[in-house]
Amino acid sequence: MTRIILKTIKELNELRLSNQKGISFVPTMGNLHRGHKELIREAKKLKENLVLLSIFINPLQFNDKKDLSSYPRTINKDIDLAFAAGADAIFIPSVDEIYPKNQKKINYLKASENLSKTLCGISREGHFDGVCTVVNRLINIVKPEVIFLGEKDWQQLLIIKEMIAKNNIKVAIKSIDTQRDIDGIPYSSRNNLLLKNDREKLKLFSAELFRTKQIFNQTKTIELKKIMKKLKDKDIKVEYLEHVNAFNLKRSTSEINITMLTGAIICGSTRLIDHVFLMKRDPIIAIDGPAGSGKSTVTKLVAKKLKFIFLDTGAMYRALSWYLIKEKINYGNSEDLNSFLSDISIQFKSVSGSKQNVIINNHNVTDKIRTQEISSIVSSISSIKEVREFLVKEQRKIGEAGGIVAEGRDIGSKVFPHAELKIFLTATIEERARRRKNELEAMGQGNIDFEQLKNEIEKRDFDDSNRKISPLTKAEDAIEIISDDYTINQVVGKILEIYLEKIPKELHL
Ligand code: C5P
Repeated sequence: MTRIILKTIKELNELRLSNQKGISFVPTMGNLHRGHKELIREAKKLKENLVLLSIFINPLQFNDKKDLSSYPRTINKDIDLAFAAGADAIFIPSVDEIYPKNQKKINYLKASENLSKTLCGISREGHFDGVCTVVNRLINIVKPEVIFLGEKDWQQLLIIKEMIAKNNIKVAIKSIDTQRDIDGIPYSSRNNLLLKNDREKLKLFSAELFRTKQIFNQTKTIELKKIMKKLKDKDIKVEYLEHVNAFNLKRSTSEINITMLTGAIICGSTRLIDHVFLMKRDPIIAIDGPAGSGKSTVTKLVAKKLKFIFLDTGAMYRALSWYLIKEKINYGNSEDLNSFLSDISIQFKSVSGSKQNVIINNHNVTDKIRTQEISSIVSSISSIKEVREFLVKEQRKIGEAGGIVAEGRDIGSKVFPHAELKIFLTATIEERARRRKNELEAMGQGNIDFEQLKNEIEKRDFDDSNRKISPLTKAEDAIEIISDDYTINQVVGKILEIYLEKIPKELHL
């Protein structure tokens, strides 16, 4: 097989034009190791794409000139490794090619302040700005469909993801977990610079992180000072050691579920980083949205794929409404309502596959709560403070251990504000009315008038969005999916993709 090695943008453009394939892109700074090999392997999984690896030591991301000049350069070995691992082409541009002297094409970017002014960003001023600038420049040149990055540099990964989202760059990111040598040390190009004694220190550091993770899994606590002392006793020079929220890198607080214990140590003249991810409970996915957006179907399928439980909170509001009416409770009177609620038990019982029966105080109301009569009353009942407080408490109990996909109107904003992934699923009113009509007719509820149904849904959306307590809103950190043009499987695929990319691979169940 011919080895395609490209040195210029012109050569790269010619390859793209002659090939007509999408590009899976693995950007590197060379001195390739097992971590890069795994990235290439991951990229190869997208069989229809061309795997392009770049080797470019980006001067912009070195704030220390000595670090730049001593950065390991092993180009011939790299070329052999990349092709042996399955790369289709290698791009090795010069500095002038990436940053032409006329400077016209270069868009110097600034990394997110929040993510870059902490951890590694403290001692490496301007480093992440340089990373953002080169990645953006390489994406503009290579025009990849997918870019492959390692989670070893988690802070860098978060910053690049933020840069791509903020600039609306159309590229997917896939990441792989930290690859480690048999002694537990994460592969890194800088490991080549280590003397034996230094490597031993890095090994002790990584081992300490993993020991802490084991302890954390049982106690759910971390004693940073103790770890620092242990490291000091082992003569390890720590630049920083922090326990942070894994997604915004702010110092961890007790309610944060997924965190990272991360640090940098100095070995000789080399600075090395490592981290472990920690998780208190299994993740929670919150799916909110208006009536008829497809939440129930999508929630069930996502939960099934991840082997999570699913929670249809709308069914709880519906069941309660049904029972209030049946028992003719004067729910406007808070004493009557409270005494009624103190005796309520709502349960979900799996029947077959992903079908669940909804039981309220021994009444199986699974089908009875899906009538238009209930749909027309549920919004006003769900706006009552006592009702909401009662059901939110029940929902939190169900979700306590995590491993749950919950759908409703206020899941991301109120019930589980710390959910790892929040989706706001919606569709145009016409599309939602059309779906509901089909659903109701399939349940044998006669011939439904489309315009009337549309008006009812619109009214329910209005009521749900305008009530005082926990209205239907898109949580600030929710990702919106407008599902009109997607099939159910496409929406499910998209949510799974976002979820699997967001949760560090080290924590995948
Ligand atoms: O999702 P579904 O249409 O079954 O929900 C029925 C009603 O229950 C909604 O229109 C809304 O008034 C109420 N609800 C709510 N909060 C939730 C879920 C549903 O207020 N989390």
